[in-house]
Parts: sequence; structure tokens; C-alpha cells
Amino acid sequence: MSAVLVTGGAGYIGSHAVKALQAAGHTVVVLDNLSAGHRAAVGDTRLIEADVRDTPSVRAALRTHDIRAVMHFAALLSVGDSVTDPATYYDCNVRGSLALLDAMVAEGVDRFVLSSTCAVYGDRVATPIDEAHPTAPINAYGDTKLAVERALLHYGRAYGLRSVALRYFNAAGADADGEIGEDHAPEIHLIPRAIAAARGGAPLKIFGDDYPTADGTCERDYVHVSDLASGHLRALAALEVSATSDADEVSRVFNLGTGRPHSVREVVRAVERVSGLSVPTLPASRRVGDPAVLFASGDRIRNDLGWRPAYTSLDAIVDTAWRWHETHPQGFGG
Ligand code: UDP
Repeated sequence: MSAVLVTGGAGYIGSHAVKALQAAGHTVVVLDNLSAGHRAAVGDTRLIEADVRDTPSVRAALRTHDIRAVMHFAALLSVGDSVTDPATYYDCNVRGSLALLDAMVAEGVDRFVLSSTCAVYGDRVATPIDEAHPTAPINAYGDTKLAVERALLHYGRAYGLRSVALRYFNAAGADADGEIGEDHAPEIHLIPRAIAAARGGAPLKIFGDDYPTADGTCERDYVHVSDLASGHLRALAALEVSATSDADEVSRVFNLGTGRPHSVREVVRAVERVSGLSVPTLPASRRVGDPAVLFASGDRIRNDLGWRPAYTSLDAIVDTAWRWHETHPQGFGG
């Protein structure tokens, strides 16, 4: 039976997608260099330990496992690091993705789902942000993802590669069964850091409280990681049914967000409500590369692919993250 290759499948969002694919009956093969991912996140799914830039290994994986579609999560993800070390980001995220696409073209695999990001939009000129919003990334991370989206358009037209790019807003929460969750080292994201602060760790630094928002802190659209995973299943299903010759349809782009913005302070209060603990905070300077407000219009993916988030409240999302961190204080290490 043909399989789906999930690059970065040992990572946070990738591992939730693997679980959702398997629950829907797909055979899955993971390709991950384990630089940030965790073997334990993959369970007994077949894991090929390789980098996407390792073309012989990727081509062998595509051939050996009869891969019919690729979901590509393997990438570097820190906005801040991308600003200080863009070379590493272009190498991994752009060169890595192009190497993967070239391997797919060479092996005749023509369905591709890209893990993209709302960082492609940069500072918003209108909210909510729909897919027609101008793309103008203000950090190298967003720029690397946009570069791959652009390549997909041309690979689609020239080589018949059909793709869906999913522009995630802020991935959050953990698997409801408690089997997998977020475990980054170092952890840079707001919700796990706020949880760590509630659990007695260092106070949470609030990166900027003088933004042009209601409470002065940045607003983001937090979407549950299992909802992101279900978005990938919808994207794959769309690629499996529509063999279109329309040049504009060969590479499609969708936002994946809930459409509701929450400020950093609102997240802090949600963690306090869910945990029953207080979250100590410290004011800190703005983080380079942070837009003030990012939240999605999810109309296109709702209308075209029928996707709806199952988690519609911030507290419900934070609750799954809280339970993961309570039961896995050392992440996948225990
Ligand atoms: N943030 C913060 N303190 C932290 C981590 C994040 O104030 O320790 C803020 C950050 O400036 C941004 C929001 O929380 O406005 C979400 O940041 P995160 O790193 O979770 O996701 P990003 O928006 O960068 O994808």
C-alpha cells in the first residue's frame, strides 16, 4: 500500500499530523534528522533518520516506500534565530525544501503539503488576514517559507507538482490523549513558557507592552496542534481528488487559524485560570521581528476544504498544553 512521507514527523506539529494520518488509515513513513525532533514522538512508526538535504536518502525513501504524497514539516522555526543567523535558515528551509521537491520530481511523486506560516504576511495592513493580503515578511523565517511557496507555483506549472501550502498561525496545545506534545529545546514559545513560569520556573518575560493593541502586548491567533493536523488531512484529501490542469490551482494556499486574536496578557490569564496558579511576569523589550497583531481569516479553508477547528476557546487549548506539561515535566525525556 502506498504511503505518505512526513518530513519532520518527530517534531511538534509533524508528530500530531502523523497520529492523525494513521488514525485516518494512512500508512506513514517519517523522515527526520532528529536535530530537534524526538524518537519517542514517532512511537513505532517507521523512522528514516536523515536530513531533507540528503538527496540519496530522500530518493531512496520515496522509492522504497512507494510514497505517493509528502507532508513537509522539517524546518527551523525560531523567528529570532532567523534574524541573527539567516544563512542557516535559508540553507535548511529553502535549500532543504528545494532538494526535497527536486527528489520528488525525479521520483515522480507529485503531491505536496507545505508547512508554511503567517509570518509570510509581515506587519498586517488589514485584519483579519486573508490569503490575498500582501506578503512582506519582516524576518528571515517568514521569507524562507514564502520563497518555498513561490517555488511551488513554478514547480506546479513546469513539473506538474500539485501542492497545498498551509499558513499556520500560532500552533498551540497538545494531543488530547496525552501521548505527544510540545518539547522544544530551548523552548521559545509563549504558552509553554507561561506554563513553566506557573510551575515555578523563571518569570515570563513579556516582550513589549507598548504595541498598538488593546493592552499593549502582541496579539496572535492560537490554533490547536490537532486542528493543524486535521487541516493537513483536508489538504491531502484535496490533492488526492483534484487532478486539475488549471495552472493557478496546482499550488494552493490556505490560512490555518481560528480567526480570534489573543494578547500575551490574555494567554497569561488563561494559563492562570487553567492551572489555578499565578504566572509571574517581567516586562521586557520587544523581540526583533515580531509584528503587533496576526490573526487569520479562515474563510478560504472553511469554504474550499470544509476545515473547522475543533478547539474554539483559548482555555481549552491551554488546558491540553497544561496537562501535557504536568504529565511530562521533562518533555519526551520523562
Ligand atoms: N512572547 C513573550 N514572551 C515569551 C515568548 C513569547 O512575550 O517568552 C510573545 C511574543 O513576543 C509573541 C507571542 O508571545 O508576541 C507569541 O510568541 P511565540 O514565540 O509563542 O510565537 P510566534 O508568534 O513567534 O510564532
